[in-house]
Order: sequence, then C-alpha cells, then structure tokens
Amino acid sequence: MENATAIIPGVLTIDVEEHFHVHAFSSIIDRADWPNHESRVEANTDRILQIFADGGATGTFFTLGCVADRHPALIRRIVDAGHELASHGQGHYAVFNQNRATFLEDVRRSRLTLEDTGGAAVRGYRAASFSIDARSPWAYEALAEAGYDYSSSSHPITHDLYGDPDAPRHPFREPSTGMLEIPITTLLWRGRRIPAGGGGFFRMFPLALVRANMARMRAEGVPPNFYLHPWEIDPGQPRINGAPLKSRLRHTIGLGRCESKLQRLIASGGSDKPWTRMDEAYHGWLNDFPAAGNADSDGHTILAG
Ligand SMILES: [Zn+2]
Repeated sequence: MENATAIIPGVLTIDVEEHFHVHAFSSIIDRADWPNHESRVEANTDRILQIFADGGATGTFFTLGCVADRHPALIRRIVDAGHELASHGQGHYAVFNQNRATFLEDVRRSRLTLEDTGGAAVRGYRAASFSIDARSPWAYEALAEAGYDYSSSSHPITHDLYGDPDAPRHPFREPSTGMLEIPITTLLWRGRRIPAGGGGFFRMFPLALVRANMARMRAEGVPPNFYLHPWEIDPGQPRINGAPLKSRLRHTIGLGRCESKLQRLIASGGSDKPWTRMDEAYHGWLNDFPAAGNADSDGHTILAG
C-alpha cells in the first residue's frame, strides 16, 4: 500500500471524569464523599473542547454517567461540537470488582443516562482503569446485552493496577460475542510491550517520541488510539492527601506541560493528522464483519497486521 501511514487517522479519546474518581485514590477517597469534592471536570473538558476546535479535530468522549447527571450542559456541548459521546460506565467501578449483574446494570444505566442527556446514540464503552480482563469473562456479553457495539477497554501491557499483557495489541473480535475491542496503543520494543497511547506516558515523554510512536502504530496498519483525562491538563487541581507516593507522582507528573503538549499534538499536522472519532475511524469494521480475518490462538479475530 502506497503511503498507507498518511491516510490512517488517529483516534482522540477523552475519559471524562473528575480528578478524585481515579482508581488509584479509591482507598483514600470514599465514593460517598465524591459530592463534597470540588468539581473541576466541566471547566477542564471545556478547555479540551476548545483545543479540539482550534485544531479542527474531533474525538470520542468516554463519559461517566455520574458526570452527565451533574453536568448535563457539558454533555450537550460535547455532542453539539461534533464529537462522539460514549460511555465510561456510570460510577467508575472496575469491571473486575463487579459481577455480571452489577456490571450490566452499571453499563445499561450509563448508556441511558448519556443518551437522554446528550440526545445522541451511545455505541462505545471504555472500562474504568481498562479493567476488562480474564477476571470478567462475562463482560463483552453484558455489553452486547446493554446495546453497545464496541469496547475500547483493553490496555495490553504489564501494569500493577490494570492491563493484560497477553491480550491482542490490535483491534479484534471477542470470540463469543463478535464485539469489536479496540485496545489502547502499545508498542513493541525489543520484544517487550510498552505503553504509548496517552495518559501518564503522554505527560512524561517528549512530544517527538509520542509522535514517532503513533507513526509506528500507523505503520502497523492500525489507527493510534490516544487517551487523556480532563484532569491531566489541570495543574491547579487539589492534591489528594494521604495517597501513596507512587500514586501521587503518577497522577501529577507533567501536568503543567500537558495542555500545551495536547495543543501541539493536535495542531502538528503531518502524519499525525487527521484526528477523528472512534466510530468514524472504525466505521467499516463496526458495520461489517470482516470477510477475512486472522484468528489468533485464542480464537480472537485480529483485524489488522
Ligand atoms: Zn476512568
């Protein structure tokens, strides 16, 4: 394929949640106390919407149902600006801490909440903390039952809090349901998988390296799947007292540079453009089962590479 890397779009995804919803702080912050914390998600997401508008980019906003309940006008602004509204669940529960029934209830409720608030169909789901793994074999079946068409919940790396290092790196059809799973971008480096899709990696490393990694993903024939949270462009957020040092460092590293880095990533042009919504980047794959796919040893149908 001639010049294939130039025509594969990147996908910008934002997990719309508060700084105090983060799983690493769950042992410090009681969820019953969430309403008492200062809400900063609306102002931060508005700044991201402005950055996207300035750069002519669209993206997918995986949004918590509880954020939609508290900030309905924000949800409508996301939709009105031409972005895809998708679900990050209702209450930011890790999938592996739920059972099938409570998970189904959570993903159903969040989809209905978001669709009622935003007035747009919700097709996609991203699990809190990328928490679909071998502990939740019922997850895709429940997502299909709740009306979802795809998931982007897998971060196939080794990590102390989440991730499944044996899961496919490229988009695949989950064997029992046929549901499309679109993993977060990773790279192979000397036989090891390294995170390259956004979040702390994006905050920590130079933009040139981020761009190079996205170009490598395109060279593999797969749209880079980039993710960020609104709190990651907010260096003024209140610090979480009592959290473990590792969690605090991970949460705060590079916060001060992140907003301008995001602006430059989106405005940079060249091989990093265009940025688009998940449902547009995967339009064909969401609507047609691939005629020819390569099944891996677990029966996953791999869609690229
Ligand atoms: Zn989250």
